[in-house]
Amino acid sequence: MSFDLNDTAREEAVLNQDTPEAIQADGPSFDQLGLAPEILKAIVHAGYPSPSDVQALAVPPALSGQDLLVSAKTGSGKTAAFVWPALQRILDARLDPAKRRAKGTPQGPRVLVLAPTRELAMQVSRAAMQYGHGVQGLRIAHVVGGVPYQAQLKALRGPLDMLIATPGRLIDLMNSGAAVMGQVEMLVLDEADRMLDMGFIDDITTIAQSLPESRQTLMFSATFAGSVGGLARQLTREPQRINVASHTDTHAQIEQRLHWADNPEHKHALLETLLADRGLEQAVVFTATQRDADALAWRLGEIGHSVAALHGGMPQGRRNRVLQGLRQRQLRVLVATDVAARGIDVPTITHVINFGLPMKAEDYVHRIGRTGRAGRTGLAITLAERRDIGQIRRIERFTTQRIQAGVVAGLEPKLPPPSDKPMGDRRPGGRPGARAGGRPGGRFGGQGESAGQGYGRQPGFGEPGKRRGPGGFGGGGQGGHGKPGGPGRGGYGR
Ligand code: AMP
Repeated sequence: MSFDLNDTAREEAVLNQDTPEAIQADGPSFDQLGLAPEILKAIVHAGYPSPSDVQALAVPPALSGQDLLVSAKTGSGKTAAFVWPALQRILDARLDPAKRRAKGTPQGPRVLVLAPTRELAMQVSRAAMQYGHGVQGLRIAHVVGGVPYQAQLKALRGPLDMLIATPGRLIDLMNSGAAVMGQVEMLVLDEADRMLDMGFIDDITTIAQSLPESRQTLMFSATFAGSVGGLARQLTREPQRINVASHTDTHAQIEQRLHWADNPEHKHALLETLLADRGLEQAVVFTATQRDADALAWRLGEIGHSVAALHGGMPQGRRNRVLQGLRQRQLRVLVATDVAARGIDVPTITHVINFGLPMKAEDYVHRIGRTGRAGRTGLAITLAERRDIGQIRRIERFTTQRIQAGVVAGLEPKLPPPSDKPMGDRRPGGRPGARAGGRPGGRFGGQGESAGQGYGRQPGFGEPGKRRGPGGFGGGGQGGHGKPGGPGRGGYGR
């Protein structure tokens, strides 16, 4: 099974929930993930506001015993996404009489995590201890290369719940009979692509062969192409594919463009011209509110477009029919709100047009991801009025990319482009991949824009105990636009 869960899971959630706007707007909470109170307590203690995407998507299937192939970057919260289900499995095993460990029988680990480097293994080990703090008598060990064997041999002699290892050292210890792998119920490969780059393929295959066939396997890797895909096929059974995009991904296959509009009517004229483009196969036009979506769909329908609205205020059956119409290409234009459109995975969508700006900067990334799918290219066009400048710059800081402004011939704005208020070290073009003390690809704003970080900076991921700053993404930018009945809507919705 292979699909982009980031989208498909959301689509299913959107289709299956009665009140998807409310549920989807916030995502699942920690206590909806299905974890034991001991683990939840540690999560609360860590102070995280909500599960990250990879956690929300990977934890429930991992808990149900499914094999997973997960693409998520460091900084996405991926360690917790496998450590929490691993701890849950350890707790469950303790309650299972069939798995009770009698004295004198082998007491090898129930969970084995393989990591490419000593540093990563230690980091996983620290995370496991942090999240497993409330699990009574939890026994975790790590065995890594480059350090004396003595302490590791001792750790392996005692009973173990979780073992974290680099492949080379583990093979040595297995060959000497010190590491017993016959009780492993869950195998995790962290940064599998890196392990292969480092030449661990044979070690990993040998280790996997010594594990029970009934085990669950979770593979984390930036890519599943090439040899890592081959390894995934070899090690997993009917795996579920989870793909979590990072907000700093360059989206190289999606051209992003910005058109300044002088006023709402100018914006409508721009939209109508863009929709007349013959190169446009299908488009999703985003509005900020459900009311705007209905009004705009009606207006576009009046001028002859095959168009429908899609938002969470519509009955479920109608929403399903609209999505079907889009997939079957009966609709050329879909006018949607953020939440309703999140799961749409239709490869023939060539254009995403932001008619109303997203409430949250991260929604911009979800929006543009509706195009450029399945190896195709796409065009994401944002129509903005001068008052939207703050939100545009917030989006640019979030993605660390500048959206190039363009003009539509004959519809050039009469007003000059809006100027920025001074905001620190701004650089056109941003600094893709730049770090600011945080981890690359981090999802959560550390200080966020309110702390005045320079343009192009990557908001740092919360170190343990650090919460999102008040200006972090997800909370900001809500007052500036999209209020039903706000200024500037008078020109349409007749
Ligand atoms: P990782 O992607 O596993 O390297 O995670 C990097 C950092 O994310 C760690 O410092 C964790 O403490 C932090 N983290 C993990 N889950 C969350 C979450 N749900 N919200 C905020 N931070 C988190």
